[in-house]
Amino acid sequence: MAFSANRSNVSGGSPRSATVRLERASSLTSNTSPTHPRSKAIPSATSPGRRPSRNGRDDSGVSGRVRVAVRLRPRNSEELKSDDVADYIELMPELKRLKLRKNNWDFETFQFDEILNETASQKRVYEVVAKPVVESVLEGYNGTVMAYGQTGTGKTFTLGKLGEDDAADRGIMVRAMEDILANASAEQDSVSVSYLQLYLETVQDLLAPEKDNLTISEDPRTGDVSLPGATCVEVRHPKSFLELLEAGEANRIAANTKMNTESSRSHALLLVNVKKSVKAKQEKESTASNENGSSLQLSKSHSLMTIRKSKLLIVDLAGSERVDKSGSEGHLLEEAKFINLSLTALGKCINALAENSPHVPIRDSKLTRLLRDSFGGTARTSLVITIGPSSQHRAETMSTILFGQRAMKVENMVKLREEFDYKSLCRKLEADLDRLIAENERQNKLVLDTEEQLQKRAEEAELTIQQAERKAKVLLEESHAKKLKLQKENLDSIRRLQQECSLLEKELKENAVKLQSEKEAAVVEKEMQIQNERAKKQQEKEEYIEEYQHKLEELNKKFEAERAERESIERRLQEIEDCMEGQNKLELDDQENLNELAKKMEEESHSRERATRELGEWKLQGAFIASNETAGLKDEVKLLKQEIEEQCKQKEVLEKEVKDLKQQMLQLSYDTDETRKVLEKGPTRVSLGAESPMSLSKAHHMRETVNGQRATIAKLFEQVGLHKILSLLESEDVDVRVHAVKVVANLAAEESNQEKIVESGGIVSLLRLLDSSQDDIIRRVAAETNQELIMAQNGTRLLVRTANETDDPQTLRMVAGAIANLCGNEKLQARLREDGGIIALLGMARSRHPDVLAQIARGIANFAKCESRAARGQKREKSLLIEDGALPWIVENATNEISAVRRHIELALCHLAQHEVNAVDLIAAGALWELVRISKECSREDIRILATKNITSSSSFQSELKKL
Ligand code: ADP
Ligand code: MG
Repeated sequence: MAFSANRSNVSGGSPRSATVRLERASSLTSNTSPTHPRSKAIPSATSPGRRPSRNGRDDSGVSGRVRVAVRLRPRNSEELKSDDVADYIELMPELKRLKLRKNNWDFETFQFDEILNETASQKRVYEVVAKPVVESVLEGYNGTVMAYGQTGTGKTFTLGKLGEDDAADRGIMVRAMEDILANASAEQDSVSVSYLQLYLETVQDLLAPEKDNLTISEDPRTGDVSLPGATCVEVRHPKSFLELLEAGEANRIAANTKMNTESSRSHALLLVNVKKSVKAKQEKESTASNENGSSLQLSKSHSLMTIRKSKLLIVDLAGSERVDKSGSEGHLLEEAKFINLSLTALGKCINALAENSPHVPIRDSKLTRLLRDSFGGTARTSLVITIGPSSQHRAETMSTILFGQRAMKVENMVKLREEFDYKSLCRKLEADLDRLIAENERQNKLVLDTEEQLQKRAEEAELTIQQAERKAKVLLEESHAKKLKLQKENLDSIRRLQQECSLLEKELKENAVKLQSEKEAAVVEKEMQIQNERAKKQQEKEEYIEEYQHKLEELNKKFEAERAERESIERRLQEIEDCMEGQNKLELDDQENLNELAKKMEEESHSRERATRELGEWKLQGAFIASNETAGLKDEVKLLKQEIEEQCKQKEVLEKEVKDLKQQMLQLSYDTDETRKVLEKGPTRVSLGAESPMSLSKAHHMRETVNGQRATIAKLFEQVGLHKILSLLESEDVDVRVHAVKVVANLAAEESNQEKIVESGGIVSLLRLLDSSQDDIIRRVAAETNQELIMAQNGTRLLVRTANETDDPQTLRMVAGAIANLCGNEKLQARLREDGGIIALLGMARSRHPDVLAQIARGIANFAKCESRAARGQKREKSLLIEDGALPWIVENATNEISAVRRHIELALCHLAQHEVNAVDLIAAGALWELVRISKECSREDIRILATKNITSSSSFQSELKKL
């Protein structure tokens, strides 16, 4: 049979293995009738066991029996008026059973899925009959709600009531649409509606009345039936649906009027297409099988969208009453056949299905074709059979109930109408692909851009490097050139410097050699000269010294002879004293003579000392010249010539001096001889009393002889020129000045020269030299220059100053000597003392040098002697020495171990003691005891005698001595 084959095709044509779920159990599905004779054949909807794949049937669905409810229409006004008591039917809603009177005594009981009595509201009817189907549709299953019953029993009321007047009257169509729209997303889902009428096997489009013969097409693959030409209106709001339904209803009435038929004869079909997009379950690897059986691996990132395309079919069938019954309407029999064809075919199909017949004549009518999925298909189907309460309806009611009973046996395999939304997936994938391509292009572009930039940068860097390299190369070359240049310059300069250096060295060597040779020559020459001169001088000096020593010896001899003579004179005097007692007058003369003799002797001694001093001076001078010349060697190289000349001159002078000194020595020896002769003759002449004046004159003569020698020197220098000699005093050279001073000093010794020297300013120069010179020789020699001249030119003060300022023993000795000489000059004594000479002399005692002390002692002795001499025969004042405080020093040094000092002091004490006026001070200073000691211990007899005499002759001394 075609129906069976179709079923087989339908189930076999769907290779999909979508998971089927039963979302809820409705009252329709939950109740099965245990009383139903075929109930065993109806599997429970609550036990959705998979049907094994047998007999080529589809095993992908879940068995879902057609649900059938019975609704009893309430009595209408007419029926209420009539006495017709509806007792032919008894409803037992709670038991879901109804009883139908078979005859007067028997009832037949029928079990249904729901029993809705006349009071059942539209809402309840919807919820019981349609709502489970609507929910299934929303879940993706096809669904069918169909009303079957006799005309006028309320099919249209139940399904198509719009409820404009009373919302509670809204029928299943309106309520179903309300529920669907409420559960569909306006954006993703779509709900579209077609409204059709099937009359005389013609399908009319109620939404487009002009389409009055729509063709039914079947998908050969799935078996799905569709009406491609039917108007399908998208509905979004219940209100628009109502309008649509109204319009459809109006069109139905118009069409029926036009066809001169009643709506009860036609079937009205509301087809609602619901498309819902559902997100598929995300699984790790979802695999969706496509039609070719190949699998598509979807990435995790893509959520699978599935589309549930389900259909809700609400069918308001034509009245189920037999046509023949309604033949009064005047239809042709043929027409009447057509009118009932669809219903008859439906009945047949349901019977076949109910009886599980292998052939279901589904193709016998358009209705069965359109309801193909609703009975024995994949849809969830709910059937409401309407019955009337009047007994008139009894037969039809029975027929309707039996139809319902058969329909309850029909079992569908509800199947989820779900498919992957390949289009949207494709779109999405395409979008993804586009996006990825764009991204890829963008990335590629980015890579290209980056590469380009990098390339550009690399090129720039390359360029920079090249430039830098070029620069570096240039710089390197420049620096190299500079370096080479500098090296060359360096080498040149080094070479030049070396040359200069070698030249300089050469020059230096030459100069050094030259200088060395010159120096050596000069030194050798100088040394030779000096040595020669020194040797000469030494020789001269030695000769001179020898002569002096000889002279000294002679003088000593002479002195000894004189002393012997004096002793003999004294002895003779003693003898005379002894012999000539009583001859007082003669005695006095003798005494005088004796004193004179003593003086003479003293002078002799003085001259001897002077000679000794001169000798020492010469020695010192010689030593000084030698040392000085050696020390000044280097400096003198320059002045060599000049000095050599001076030396020559000096040499000449010295030669002359030596010559003169020789003469002087000769004279001295002559004088000595003369003196010796006088002394030898002395004893015989003493008695004559002419001896003393004679010897005195001899001594004087001797001094004059010396002066004569000096005059000779002066004459020689006159030849040179006094001015020249004096100008030498101003010379820069110390030695020159020294010699000049010496020469001037020698000249000054000659009285005849003194005036000339003073006139020429020589003394001024000399004194200035004395004042300013640091050279001790100059000071020494200058200090010795003629005493009177010095005094006249305020020389004493200079000497005093020199004495106070210098500590040089040699200078002090010379200054002390000079002052001592002045002390011996009677004429100058007062002036000397006034100028502080005595105090200066005493002051020089600070130098402990024996020579200085000797000169001081000599000076004091000279001063005392002169005072004594001057006071002779006249009353005189106290000694100036005592006045100037010399006594303590005299007493202190009376016992000085230096014999020269001691002797002078002893003499000085004797001179002072000669005058009574000094006695008191002498006693006070303790000098008396020194005198006593001298009188006893002095080595010189004459002094002892003098001391004794002084002690004895002084009353003060005597009285002082008597105190002890
Ligand atoms: P049908 O379509 O089966 O020929 P209708 O639906 O046209 O019957 O109903 C016939 C009449 O009965 C209508 O006037 C309707 O209003 C009324 N009718 C039907 N069923 C009911 C009901 N359950 N309650 C009230 N009135 C009803
Ligand atoms: Mg109707």
